[in-house]
Amino acid sequence: MPTRERAGGRFEDFSAAGPDKDSHQSRDPETVGETIRRPANLHKRVLIVEDHPLNMKLFRVLLHSRGYDTVEAGDGNLGLNLARAEKPDLIIMDIQLPDVSGIQIIRALKADDRTRNIPIVAITASMPDEEANIRAAGGDAFLRKPIAGAEFLRLVRSLLREVEPGC
Ligand code: MN
Repeated sequence: MPTRERAGGRFEDFSAAGPDKDSHQSRDPETVGETIRRPANLHKRVLIVEDHPLNMKLFRVLLHSRGYDTVEAGDGNLGLNLARAEKPDLIIMDIQLPDVSGIQIIRALKADDRTRNIPIVAITASMPDEEANIRAAGGDAFLRKPIAGAEFLRLVRSLLREVEPGC
């Protein structure tokens, strides 16, 4: 289990989760073309899967404040479809969703070649075993509610490789 005193964090095996993540060679041509069209670190898109309007607004405001674009889904199946269609750079995944557990969506995303390399931050309510289940499903990181904005943005930047891990 991750340490109790921390509000969240990346799982230890994150750095091994995507050996090809800094290379375009394994990506499909559509994604490569998309990457080439825009300057690095500009207008990266983050998919937010969150059913609670106030949490959605919080994530949106925080991400827009740093220049990220957002794609938004209020339930798990819409989130899954948007991830496949839009290929965002990062996914914020609430676990408690109205239609299906976010853990099932993480599992589906990580089982799909189209989406497996997209980092996922799971938003947890600290239910028993939830973090272990997130990790087992392939989630890259988690944050516990209530969300602290600065920590959220630090984790986003880290997963987007905009800062070095551990710095
Ligand atoms: Mn929820």
